[in-house]
Amino acid sequence: MKSPWSFALVRLAGALAFAIVGGIIFGRVDLWLVVVLGGYLALQLSSLYRLHRWLRHRREEQPPDLGGVWGDVVALVGRIYRRKNFHKRRIVQLLREFRRLTAAMPEGVVLLSPQLEILWFNRTASQLLGLRRKADFGMRIDNFIRQPDFVHYLQSAPQTSPVVVRFGPAEDRYLALQIIPAGDQQLMLARDITRESRLEAMRKDFVANASHELRSPLTVINGYLDQLADDPSVESIWRSPIEEMRRQAERMRLIVEDLLELSKLEASGKDAALDPVDIGGMLAVIRKEVMAREQRPREIVLKLESPARLLGSEAELHSIASNLVSNAVKYTPAEGSVQIRWWSDAEGGHLAVTDTGIGIPAQHLPRLTERFYRVDRGRSRKSGGSGLGLAIVKHALQRHGGRLTVDSAEGKGSTFTCHFPAQRLLVTP
Ligand code: ATP
Ligand code: MG
Repeated sequence: MKSPWSFALVRLAGALAFAIVGGIIFGRVDLWLVVVLGGYLALQLSSLYRLHRWLRHRREEQPPDLGGVWGDVVALVGRIYRRKNFHKRRIVQLLREFRRLTAAMPEGVVLLSPQLEILWFNRTASQLLGLRRKADFGMRIDNFIRQPDFVHYLQSAPQTSPVVVRFGPAEDRYLALQIIPAGDQQLMLARDITRESRLEAMRKDFVANASHELRSPLTVINGYLDQLADDPSVESIWRSPIEEMRRQAERMRLIVEDLLELSKLEASGKDAALDPVDIGGMLAVIRKEVMAREQRPREIVLKLESPARLLGSEAELHSIASNLVSNAVKYTPAEGSVQIRWWSDAEGGHLAVTDTGIGIPAQHLPRLTERFYRVDRGRSRKSGGSGLGLAIVKHALQRHGGRLTVDSAEGKGSTFTCHFPAQRLLVTP
């Protein structure tokens, strides 16, 4: 296509030539030039006027029918206008879809500025947290949720796990809140976990009550069984069944005791006490106790490499150590050996129990600390284990800010190590 500009130039040249020829033929070239160029200018002005009027009233008026460069400008403006409209409609549509999606989300979403001011939230968030549209925009989130746990969480965010806060006028709702960094800003996810929390509380209560209620009848049964076992008037045919009943009743008593201990650990707040505990002395006593057992590995070595004491709850620390040691003793044959080691370094205090026993196949390691989890049910039943020992260890350790690592090879032996944070170490001469 020929450019409209060459057409416009040809037209201007034609008009000039016409004025010059006319001026030469009829005299007064200057006058002819003025008149012809004036006419040309008037024509351009009228096109400019029509374009201007159309641009101002674009919605109501059809585009003017202008030729040449002006026609091209009209077509270009029309195209830009249509494209802009198209994008606008798309953005509005996307925004609507986004609103619909976030409104349908079961989780509350709040967008926070780097200064933690509320920038935006979805419908669920406004229902869960009682946020009001417009009125609460710009408010700091910690003005809204003032629970110390949440404020502490905000300061230490980002964290992978959510924090649970009680909310609502009667603080009867449990919300799980999580902060996720989103560029400069942060997203806060809120989930109502009232139902789960109530069920969890009911479960804990149930286990605690059931274990407590089972304690007295079991004591009675154990008492009578002990009497029967010692009674010479009982016929010998009953000896073996009574012995078995005693063993099983004792096993039940141990399970109930373990369950009660777990419930107590769960019920007693977050952090363990801060009493200075002499780990070395405690381990020596535990070693002496297991040395007195009939069935035990030949060698039980105690290596105390640190005089440091640990700030914690004596009963819980004893429970941790004795559970690990009795596992090592239980799962190691008589010709094997067990080593108990306590040492400290820059990271904190460490308690390791190593045995040369049967070991644990790798696939069981991740689930070892679950309640009632046993590697070999048949074998554990024989040895009287219930699978609660390591669950107790894990809980008690958590309350001391510690963690458990397990290193084991089937047939070769295992090492269970408890790592305690340096803040709980008490190193005094
Ligand atoms: P409980 O301690 O309640 O009497 P338990 O010893 O069977 O019973 P846990 O102490 O929780 O339960 O241990 C869970 C399982 O882990 C055990 O059943 C056993 O299979 C395995 N296990 C634990 N410690 C060792 C170990 N030192 N060597 C080999 N296997 C082990
Ligand atoms: Mg055990």
